[in-house]
Formats: sequence, structure tokens, C-alpha cells
Amino acid sequence: MRPTFTLGRISGVRIGVHWSVLGILVILVVALGFRSWPVLVPGYSAATYVLTALGAAVLFLVSLLAHELAHAVVARRQGIEVQDITLWLLGGVASLRSEARTPGADLRIAAAGPLTSVLAAAVFGALAWLFVAVDATTLVVLLFVYLAVFNIVIAVFNLIPAAPLDGGRILRAGLWAWKGDRARAAVWSARAGQGFGVFLILAGVWQLLFVGTGNGLWWVLIGLFIVAVASAEEQQARVGSTLADARVSEVMTPDPDTTDATLSVQDFLHDVVLTRRHAAFPVVDADGRVEGLVTLNRMRSVPTGERETMTVREIISPLEEVPTTQPDAPLTDLLPELGNAPDGRALVFDGDKLVGIVTPTDVSRAVTLRGLLNGDGRASPWVSGSAG
Ligand SMILES: [Zn+2]
Repeated sequence: MRPTFTLGRISGVRIGVHWSVLGILVILVVALGFRSWPVLVPGYSAATYVLTALGAAVLFLVSLLAHELAHAVVARRQGIEVQDITLWLLGGVASLRSEARTPGADLRIAAAGPLTSVLAAAVFGALAWLFVAVDATTLVVLLFVYLAVFNIVIAVFNLIPAAPLDGGRILRAGLWAWKGDRARAAVWSARAGQGFGVFLILAGVWQLLFVGTGNGLWWVLIGLFIVAVASAEEQQARVGSTLADARVSEVMTPDPDTTDATLSVQDFLHDVVLTRRHAAFPVVDADGRVEGLVTLNRMRSVPTGERETMTVREIISPLEEVPTTQPDAPLTDLLPELGNAPDGRALVFDGDKLVGIVTPTDVSRAVTLRGLLNGDGRASPWVSGSAG
């Protein structure tokens, strides 16, 4: 999930919003402001309903943000770097740069979200009660009752023990503590996620066919999302367990070919890409400092007519957006970052010096190689294709 724009930073964590979050605003304004409330509490002007519903939608997004921030803050307290928080159509995502080191840390990071939602529900419930006590207008009381209920729903839904929901993380932490094997615990919780996702899809289709409400579409959409993320997590856990003790230096392609930031895209294509076989190149400035990464994928976005005038610098992923690591770092710490990176590649530095690049092909090759060395024939299909 790449945020469309950045709202700002809260204690150093970038808060991004994907355009699809407008979907939540529109749905809540229509459902509450146009449909439910005018029937439930008649007698207000149309504008009052719509504005109150808009207020509800915004406060709902704020409580989603609080839920994700709780994950982020607890993760940081456990020494895990937080990449960003993104709000989108199906809620919020807090992207962590690495994994929890212990089951206890895993549990605390996961539980912080639903706890915050319960807390938010209590706050909104208390406000509703307060507004009843001071004889406020019914619509305002209703607004806070709805927000309390929404937050309870968020907490309960997220506690379902199926990855990537928080309950799935809690399940993983429990199995991990019990069996002492993080990778297997992650595989089980991802399997539970796939099962739950399929259940949601089937239940949604059943609603669409036999109940005839549009709600079924949401169930299908959320189910598809959960299945996709859970499958990727299962694959990642399996790769992680195969490469459990590998170091980055074992897997990386050393001394990668670099390219000059000031080259035109046209020259880059003819002089660099066509003569060498890589799909990604670290980009350096005149002094040899690394500015970022350019991939063939990025070049596709440049219209043929503009290749002469645009420079490589204009199409790179800047270094801040590319995962970086050191040669002696454990590979398993890098894998989640690699999965989240827009270009799917990481650069390896020894001090200031660029010494290697890790691509999905490198990881896939390492998994196959380890499988062959361990006599485990199942190893290679785990990373069939690098999309994950
Ligand atoms: Zn959560």
C-alpha cells in the first residue's frame, strides 16, 4: 500500500493516506447522513444530517489512526522501526521494518491496537452519556453512540485469530511461545487467515446471491485482501525458516553495476541497460555517492518522446525509500522490508560504501540452493515468482 499523500508525522512516524480512504468517507456519509439517521431521528435539516455524518466519518478515521498508532508506538518501544502508517479503503496499515524478537513483544504490539479501539469506544460511550446528561440534541448523542459501536466492531473483528488481523498476530505469539518456533507459528496463523478469508468470500457471495444486499461485496473484498496478505505471509515465513541463519552477504549480488544520475533515460537505456543484464541499478552522483535505485519498471513510466530530455535522477526511488542493510545482518531481518519495498530490492552498505544488492532472484536462488543442500525438494516452489 503506497500512500497517495502524507498527512504529516506523529512522533516521527509518517502518516499517509491512500486516495481510496475517500471510499470510507462517502460510504459513511451516505449510509448515516442520507439513509439511517433521517429515518431514526427525523426532524433535522438535510445539511445537519450530512455534516454530522461527515463528522462521524472523520472521527472514525481518527480512531482507526489511533489504533494503528498504538501498534506503531509499542513496536518502537520494542526497538522495531516503523516505516509508516497508511489509511485506506479497508482501514489502516502500520508497516514495521522488522519482526518482533520475542513472543511477548509480538503479543504486546498486536494487542495494543484492539485495546486502543476498546478505549476509544469507552471514550465515545462516555461522551454519549455526557450529552444525554446535559440534554443535548438526539443527533449528537447518536453520533457518539455510533462511534462507540464502530470502535467495538473494529476491536472484535481484529481479534479474530487469523493473520493478518491482530488476533492472528496474537495467535502467532501464543503458538510461538508454546512451540518455540516462530516460522511455524507464523505459517499456522497465516493458514488460519487464508481459511477465514475464504469463509468471508463465500459468505459474501452467499449474501449477494440469496440475501440481495450490497454488503456482501464488502465481505468479498475484505476476504480477498485477507487471503492475499495471509498467503504472502505464509510464503515469507517459509522462506524465513529456510534462510533462518543466513547473512545478507551470503545472498547478495556483490559489487553491483551502478549508473550515473545525470544520464538521460535514453542513454541509460542504450549504454547501460542493453549492455548489462540487470533489471535494477543503484544510481550514483558525480562523487560516487548513492542517490537511489532505478529499475526497468520505472523506465516504463517514461513516454518514448521524453526519454531524451528526462534524466535518470528524475525517475529513481530515492535512497530513503530503498531498504538498506549491512553484509553481516541476518537475512531474515531484511525479508519483510524487501516484501514491502516498492522495487522489491535492497542495497547493502559497508559503512558508506555500496557493496551489494539483494534482489528477489537472489533470495529465491538462496532458498533453492539451501533446499538442494538440505535434500528438501519442496524448497524451490515457495518463492515461485517473486511477487509474493
Ligand atoms: Zn490492528
